[in-house]
Amino acid sequence: MKEFISVDKLAYYARRNEKKNLQFRIWLKTHVDEEDLDERCRRLHDEYFAQYDCSKCRNCCKSCHGYIPEEDFQKDADHLGISREEFIEKYIDIEKGGDEGNYDTKHMPCDFLNEDGACMLGENKPEACVKYPYTAEPGRLWALYSMIDNIAVCPVAYEIFEELKREYGFNRRRK
Ligand code: SF4
Ligand code: SF4
Repeated sequence: MKEFISVDKLAYYARRNEKKNLQFRIWLKTHVDEEDLDERCRRLHDEYFAQYDCSKCRNCCKSCHGYIPEEDFQKDADHLGISREEFIEKYIDIEKGGDEGNYDTKHMPCDFLNEDGACMLGENKPEACVKYPYTAEPGRLWALYSMIDNIAVCPVAYEIFEELKREYGFNRRRK
């Protein structure tokens, strides 16, 4: 069974490893094949998330505003049993404006995070949340800055990045 870094140590280790992580990013950009990196990330994503209970963490929901697509407002409101107007009034930072049709929730932690770690939106959870930390998405070679950001939030993303260093022999090469 894999051991994961604890959530409360993440920010410290992400900061401590920042320089090395940026060096690894440059190394990846210049040495690895895009498809090979995607395949490794997907494999590690599936393997690690199968062993990790996100409901005990929810650091992503605690560290960020929710990012809700406008096209979901009605179905989210229906799911919560309120009107679209009430939904916007209660949960959406409409004054800030949308970013490509996505709106922040009013608060951080996200307004839809329940105390038991569940998302109040249930199966309507936004696609961006379902995909987070995006480690199973294609094009990882072109998203390494966001991956480095995510390892300060997500213990699974952190472990994936550390395992990539081991698999590519990066730590050995730097000695
Ligand atoms: S996706 Fe990452 S940050 Fe979010 S709950 Fe799961 S392990 Fe925690
Ligand atoms: S919408 Fe749900 S899954 Fe997404 S950040 Fe909010 S609580 Fe978390």
